[in-house]
Amino acid sequence: MDKLTAIGCTSLGKSGKFALPRTSLPQGNKEGALQNQAILPHPITSKTKRGQKKNRVPQILDILKKLYPNARCALDHETPLQLLVATILSAQCTDVRVNKVTPNLFRKYPDAKAFACANPLELESLIQSTGFFRNKAANIIACCLELVKVHGGLVPKTMVALLPLAGVGRKTANVVLGNAFGIPGITVDTHVGRLSRRLGLTVAINPVHVESDLMEQIPQPLWTIFSHRLIYHGRQVCDARKPRCPSCALLGICPQSGVVKKESPG
Ligand code: SF4
Repeated sequence: MDKLTAIGCTSLGKSGKFALPRTSLPQGNKEGALQNQAILPHPITSKTKRGQKKNRVPQILDILKKLYPNARCALDHETPLQLLVATILSAQCTDVRVNKVTPNLFRKYPDAKAFACANPLELESLIQSTGFFRNKAANIIACCLELVKVHGGLVPKTMVALLPLAGVGRKTANVVLGNAFGIPGITVDTHVGRLSRRLGLTVAINPVHVESDLMEQIPQPLWTIFSHRLIYHGRQVCDARKPRCPSCALLGICPQSGVVKKESPG
């Protein structure tokens, strides 16, 4: 008996093509693979001036709180499973684009079993606009198959149980833990990594090391909201290519590490 039959899938869609399991499923993007590593102290960061940073952190937290008191997860969802799927789809894609795709998707596949039994070609066509759709479809199906087989169709509430799931790295796991279950987690996406470096909170590039450095400095109850606030600030002010430093509320305490400053004319 194959795995789909074992969980009670009765339909493989119009093509009848058997999709999964494959022996070498894609496991998410490179970042996801990196994030599956254990968190280790970052050797370079440990040489930075911790005292200096310690004084700045409460000010950064305070200013960000005032700027973005209602920051929240930008991925629309009503259940932990929906958030898990939306987060997998958000790799290399904007949240706005994902939010356009998911209402239809969640109507067609209302639970983990429906995703696990999905016809891959149909699923791919529904998520095509999010990019990397073949990998994402394969990961979603494999992930949900595992949820049905091992977790009774529910999303587990621990990092240890989430990380083995297809397409789930530390970033995705932290999004789900923090926003679906209220378990604090620091989500290191491109904005959080960039801003953390510019603000002098880390010198690390590897998201796992960035997360580790931030966990040391940010009070645990604030981990999830701090991630959201940094993401908001990255989108609205601290742009990757053109940070708006002169009008930034953090300018007075930001070392602007790595920001190329334009020379004033004359
Ligand atoms: S001062 Fe500049 S580098 Fe620092 S957070 Fe603001 S926009 Fe980003």
